[in-house]
Amino acid sequence: MSSESPATGTKPSAIVWLRNDLRLHDHEPLQAALANHSHVLLLYCVDPRQFSTLGIGAPKTGPFRARFLIESLEALRSAARALGGELAVRVGEPETVVPGIAREINATHVFFHHEPAPEERRIEDALRVQLQDAGVKTRFFFGHTMVHHDDLPYPVAALPDTFSKYRNAVERRVSVREPLPAPATMRSPQITAGDIPTLEALGLTEPADDARTLLRFRGGESEGLERLRAWMWDADQLKTYKTTRNGLLATNDSSKFSPWLALGCLSPRTVYAEVQRYERTRVRNEDTGWLVFELHWRDYFRWVAAKWGARLYSAGGLQGLRYPWRDLRDHDARMDFNRWVEGTTGFPLVDAAMRELAATGYTSNRARQNVASFLTRVLGIDWRAGAQWFESMLVDYDVGSNWGNWAYVAGVGNDARGFRFFNVHKQAGNYDADGAFARHWLPELARIPGGRIYRPDQLSTDEQKRYGVVLGDNYPEPMVNMFAAADASAVRYDRAVAATPQS
Ligand SMILES: Cc1cc2nc3c(=O)[nH]c(=O)nc-3n(C[C@H](O)[C@H](O)[C@H](O)COP(=O)(O)OP(=O)(O)OC[C@H]3O[C@@H](n4cnc5c(N)ncnc54)[C@H](O)[C@@H]3O)c2cc1C
Repeated sequence: MSSESPATGTKPSAIVWLRNDLRLHDHEPLQAALANHSHVLLLYCVDPRQFSTLGIGAPKTGPFRARFLIESLEALRSAARALGGELAVRVGEPETVVPGIAREINATHVFFHHEPAPEERRIEDALRVQLQDAGVKTRFFFGHTMVHHDDLPYPVAALPDTFSKYRNAVERRVSVREPLPAPATMRSPQITAGDIPTLEALGLTEPADDARTLLRFRGGESEGLERLRAWMWDADQLKTYKTTRNGLLATNDSSKFSPWLALGCLSPRTVYAEVQRYERTRVRNEDTGWLVFELHWRDYFRWVAAKWGARLYSAGGLQGLRYPWRDLRDHDARMDFNRWVEGTTGFPLVDAAMRELAATGYTSNRARQNVASFLTRVLGIDWRAGAQWFESMLVDYDVGSNWGNWAYVAGVGNDARGFRFFNVHKQAGNYDADGAFARHWLPELARIPGGRIYRPDQLSTDEQKRYGVVLGDNYPEPMVNMFAAADASAVRYDRAVAATPQS
């Protein structure tokens, strides 16, 4: 390949192939490309495989995340153009698109961030082969985590099987790197920018904006940085984060950074640097440190995905547990799964959370834990069906965090410590004693006073009349006896543990 680029007429060009890293700040591949190339093209491939249908029949990328992606691409294109550069967007598989564009602009190098999950790794491998054959060099970087891959105290293959061991080692021995600044200027080769596809073109329909939505997540780097500023500095929420983070209903109970972190609009190292600055200039306490603790969880699940590969997505999970999950091919299991999805289980905490998820693409961590436990530990349904539903619906879907958390709650992930399940009645009392969350999402129960809203099954016929609830009519009876079902699950779980060879 010539070192002169016909597209630029000067030095050779480079491509920065973007994936879950839709930002300009703290972007090592971009910095590396700019250091050695006069012309750098940002390139994003809208991969049709990301818009296929999952085994449960739902779109792999549902409308909330697709809309967030489109907004993020639009924002990044504007930001790149403001610096003098360009973001090219193509619909197609990266293994085909990237080499084609490399030829078109006579690029000598392709820079990108590595992704840990098997599907993404296969794409990377295929792309590398294609580019090598075309004489184009590739360089990849690690950029999705707070702790840099190369700073880990051990190889990923030796990752400890408990989070606490991981965190202790990392906190003692690793410093988080400073985030890199965004470039001040860039130049891109002349090329057709390409349209950013619409939701309709991706086979999806615009989600209706539900008036009950707490926070409408808008994609884009500046939106992510603005949320960081508004939550941490304006609302001054970091100093009470640990205390409020389990809240179910308030916009600022937790940071809500997750969608921007998942798509890489926001770098976790930037969040970390802001926590440090906050601790220096405002206050340092247990709450401020807890945000970093949660970001360690996020990192950890990413290393888990890298270490375990395909095993993370198997029925037995990391434990290889031989648990007899109810399969969605079974009619009754499918019906029960559908009730969970629709939020008609008769358990208000579960129903409110599932309806929030369906209406907004988001629900809080506490709610996620409860609904995941209910599906797997009470209904005994294959945890992967739940993980797929989340994959489809979540605006903040992140492969490691989703599958790692699901496996953890289902008892087949890291740190399995015997059978545990969330008593959703108790959880509702602990985290929403006055019933505001249920009242927000379940209008048919809204007149039931206080925390009693979580036990419509305990209302007398007179009370049902008074509060406008008719169990089995406008709100379902509990679909299962929770304690009996959980006891039966526990027996099956213990049997499965005994039958599973220790690896
Ligand atoms: C079954 C289940 C599925 C989940 N799926 C996802 C997912 O696909 N994507 C995702 O980002 N998070 C997932 N989580 C983790 C967590 O629920 C969300 O990160 C959190 O609710 C996002 O809200 P927030 O940004 O306000 O969180 P905050 O409480 O403000 O936390 C700050 C950040 O720390 C990280 N974080 C917090 N809790 C966790 C956790 N348990 N695991 C990993 N990272 C965490 C997130 O990046 C989050 O944005 C899942 C949790 C469960 C129980």
